[in-house]
Amino acid sequence: MRAIGVDLGGSHVLAAVVEDGVIKSRAENDIDDRTFEVVTKTVIATIRAVADAEKENLPIGVGSPGNVDLATGLVRYSPNLGWHDAPFGAKLRDHLERPVFVANDARCATLGEHTYGGGRGTANFVLLTLGTGIGGGIVAEGTLLIGNAAGAGEIGHHQVRATDGFYCNCGKIGCFEAQASGTGLLRHALAVAPSFPRSQLLAEKPGKLGSKAIRRAAESGDQHALAAWNRYVDDLARGLANIIAFLNPEVIALGGGVSSAGDFMLRFVRPKVDELTTMVPRGQTRIVIAELGNDAGAIGAAVMAHRGGLSATENR
Ligand SMILES: [Zn+2]
Repeated sequence: MRAIGVDLGGSHVLAAVVEDGVIKSRAENDIDDRTFEVVTKTVIATIRAVADAEKENLPIGVGSPGNVDLATGLVRYSPNLGWHDAPFGAKLRDHLERPVFVANDARCATLGEHTYGGGRGTANFVLLTLGTGIGGGIVAEGTLLIGNAAGAGEIGHHQVRATDGFYCNCGKIGCFEAQASGTGLLRHALAVAPSFPRSQLLAEKPGKLGSKAIRRAAESGDQHALAAWNRYVDDLARGLANIIAFLNPEVIALGGGVSSAGDFMLRFVRPKVDELTTMVPRGQTRIVIAELGNDAGAIGAAVMAHRGGLSATENR
């Protein structure tokens, strides 16, 4: 299996030639201007940087933020990029003159992690990326769930604290993403700050405090960071227990920036998830750290290209 996989984010694009889940060559560019024309131009140039050295016309898979019409590659809407009904797939096909398949970036990452990473060999699998937001995807009975309008897997927007939670970018209160993303960890630290007036964390320059600093301070025993971390893990565990109740997966893999806490995170989160798991047998879902890191999206997009795209009908 050899194909080109592309992972487009709000600020960065990666294009890679992928063979059997291994990246053979890669090109990356920053995205400073998110207008459709500029992003498309940058994506095409990034793809050409790896594709031109290939002897064959390899198929191309692209993971894009937002809700994507799988048949055409139309990005119906993407809050990250500020696009509405953007004919992304058509534009790429016009310029690259070969098969191009577009799907949501988190679904592509799920496909990658299921085929070659932490979900290998499982029939029921969930990937969650804990970054600025929470991206996710579901594999049920061996099939990546797509849903009626390609929206299955928007796990970040189920509410875990509907009355006393933080505002979410989607307009609701207490979404899993608002509470348990990297941004959520920062919000928890700010919410408990009045109880820790001498906190070293607050000595950081304004705007410099981020989830990484909080996580590291929690690991080294800082009381303010630990208080935030405990609240964060409570909310993360609520969401994970909900996923277990809905899907009873064999494995949930955690990726994204916050998951680099690794064992420190798992040690806190596993017992809380068990506590909140009621009607499904406890301890039967393995919670692990994802294996492919930032490459999961590009690897999964290549898997999609090799399969000839994702579609609800193909799955039936
Ligand atoms: Zn939301």
